[in-house]
Amino acid sequence: MRSSTHSTAQHSNLHLSVRIPASMMDAALDDISHRRYNPLRGNWILVSPHRTKRPWLGQEETPSRNALPEHDPECYLCPGNKRSGGARNPDFDGTFVFVNDFSAVKEDQVDYETSLSDDKASLLLKAEGVKGKCYVICFSPAHNKTLADMSIPEICLVINTWQKLYRDVKQDTPFRSIQIFENKGDAMGCSNPHPHCQAWATSHLPEEPAAELTNMVEYQRAHGSCMLCDYLAIELEKKERIVAENDGWLAICPWWAFWPFETLVISKRCIKSILELETDKEKELLAQIMSAITTKYDNLFETKFPYSMGIHQAPLRGTDEEHAANHVHIHFLPPLLRSATVKKFQVGYELLAEPQRDITPEQAARRLQGLSTELYRKKLGDSS
Ligand SMILES: [Zn+2]
Ligand SMILES: [Zn+2]
Ligand SMILES: [Zn+2]
Repeated sequence: MRSSTHSTAQHSNLHLSVRIPASMMDAALDDISHRRYNPLRGNWILVSPHRTKRPWLGQEETPSRNALPEHDPECYLCPGNKRSGGARNPDFDGTFVFVNDFSAVKEDQVDYETSLSDDKASLLLKAEGVKGKCYVICFSPAHNKTLADMSIPEICLVINTWQKLYRDVKQDTPFRSIQIFENKGDAMGCSNPHPHCQAWATSHLPEEPAAELTNMVEYQRAHGSCMLCDYLAIELEKKERIVAENDGWLAICPWWAFWPFETLVISKRCIKSILELETDKEKELLAQIMSAITTKYDNLFETKFPYSMGIHQAPLRGTDEEHAANHVHIHFLPPLLRSATVKKFQVGYELLAEPQRDITPEQAARRLQGLSTELYRKKLGDSS
């Protein structure tokens, strides 16, 4: 099926001529080294599936399997506890939002004037002031729960809180964007296991969503359609990378995934922000897919699976074109590679040349798809 005839290399451009019918294409990529393009981010990822057979001599992480209490008197996120900034948390019983005591960006500071001169220093040493506000959102009063442990109604409360925050920050502040993200697990540098996420509102649109938005706007201009609507249709037709699905959402290992078990959750309806999830049913569908993914992740290596998760959606302020090109999606970027203790590092070639992965997204999707949505530790009657 594979043809790898080298055409004449001219001007150092080596063309590898591969004539494979489109329908066979993905299977052919199963064990040849190749690059895949991420149209959302506008970058290439090197894929080396043949390397999965190599022996592992790298670092193993220690799995965190310590039993956690439902309330930890030392935790600054548990209800009723005092935070390091001095404030005391209320006795909340659902979600709880507060402004981070150690925010990365400040709301009140003097404006930074950018030099307008055209000398080399102002060309090469650029800076701009950033104002913003960082929020912490506790998902639950229970210290020992994760999204995978939470019920669908409990996750719906989290979704309602995200919506309220997006709406309030849009109404009450001048900020351009808000990034909602969760950093979970020691392996991701998250020191506190209490289930929570953060939302950073900033006066600028940060690099990742900005790059995606530029590409989505360009795609819309060039093809007259939404990039993620078009991509969603392809994935629904090919059914090669699906991890979980319901009436509202599709979860896949995207074609261009970089992390071994990276997933992308795409809204089936072309909504621009989470505010457009209006009915309880729509929120429930999102809660269900979040629950399914986090449960499958935990079941994969029978551990509390670490990840960074973030919602990409329309910026709080932008042009009509920017709003129209957007399509709500959620990235899950987990570092684990082959067990609860073996993590992928982004080093060497990946830092200095380009991102690289070994198992293909199709292989990762098949493994995740085959896993149960019943949490392993519930079966074991174990909450650790
Ligand atoms: Zn806690
Ligand atoms: Zn769309
Ligand atoms: Zn994105």
